[in-house]
Amino acid sequence: MNPELLRQYIAYYQDLGIDTLYRRGLAGAQAEGLCHTKDLQPTVAQAFSLCTETLALIREDIGDCRRCRLHEGRSKIVFGAGNEQARLVFVGEGPGADEDAQGVPFVGRAGQLLTQMIEGTARKEGIPLLRKDVYICNVVKCRPPGNRTPLPDEMETCGQFLVRQLLAIRPKAISVLGATAAKALLERKEGVTKLRGNWYRWRGIPVMVTFHPSYLLRPYNQSAKREAWEDLKKVLHHVYD
Ligand code: URA
Repeated sequence: MNPELLRQYIAYYQDLGIDTLYRRGLAGAQAEGLCHTKDLQPTVAQAFSLCTETLALIREDIGDCRRCRLHEGRSKIVFGAGNEQARLVFVGEGPGADEDAQGVPFVGRAGQLLTQMIEGTARKEGIPLLRKDVYICNVVKCRPPGNRTPLPDEMETCGQFLVRQLLAIRPKAISVLGATAAKALLERKEGVTKLRGNWYRWRGIPVMVTFHPSYLLRPYNQSAKREAWEDLKKVLHHVYD
């Protein structure tokens, strides 16, 4: 693991106030003779254990989550879907009705548009890429009632899992879909119209903000579609060229 990545892992878990993590990982490292707890400063011990972070472990930590009120109305937790080693991650807001029923992100109308955009744009640009090759997830993992915007405390509670997913995958770029995801990952005051089309960084990873596919489905927002396609082309070329 390179020193910058190590620093980011440590900073992230210190932000969360976590001092000791994943004994299992540390025990594994010890069993392999990689480290000995008594010789290690806590931060280094943490870093060793963090090398073992996987999406499966994060999902296990979420469990049958009741950390915020959103659990009350959900059918299924929508953790994320796609390639664990994806070079590109899309982050949306939160599950809608179809996603809540199936436990899979972006499978309703907005999801179908997102899939068409990813696969259609990649094909046109000569990039062999299918939806299954990227990773797709949301800021909150349970459907907000009536599809309302997640509240700040819900985003904060669930956001820790998004952070861990992104750090576990370490994609080459993140495509942020809409205002809620932009708010969760970037400390910016501007709206999507202002932010879109430019590169930002989240913990060193390039981030492109673009319109949420639900916004593009509204008939009066058709001009935004062209801009969303431009944003996606930029992301695809950055990641796959
Ligand atoms: N909208 C989102 O933000 N996420 C989904 O998974 C579906 C719709």
